[in-house]
Amino acid sequence: MREFPSKICASCGRTFEWRRKWAESWDEVRYCSAKCRRCRVRAVDRALEETVLRLLAARARSATICPSEAARAVDPEGWGPLMEPARAAARRLAAQGRVIALQRGRPVDPSRARGAIRLGRGPAFGAPRVDASGLPTRS
Ligand SMILES: [Zn+2]
Repeated sequence: MREFPSKICASCGRTFEWRRKWAESWDEVRYCSAKCRRCRVRAVDRALEETVLRLLAARARSATICPSEAARAVDPEGWGPLMEPARAAARRLAAQGRVIALQRGRPVDPSRARGAIRLGRGPAFGAPRVDASGLPTRS
């Protein structure tokens, strides 16, 4: 099997592999697709990240949450469309080691996991935020 270098998309949080079109610019590539480059990370996405961390911080060290809980907390009325963004937020946090994704109590790669995942505290859970660009409120 050929091994290509890979990165984690700054928007959707999924792992993506090197492609020929990035031969000259791989170091600068941050997004897996044009769609992710367009969407980037919005205020609501940061709010979802913060909410995942806040919900976990409010519970026992070994407790887990469902990404949907963060979606509901961010927008109790219209959380449905936030489900995938909540999972993306979870993937970005997992990439930073702040959370771990679990299925049936076992760690999984959230970039590849199918079906429902739960989130627990990761090894870097309490690490200072790299991007402290303002805590977004509901928008
Ligand atoms: Zn992406």
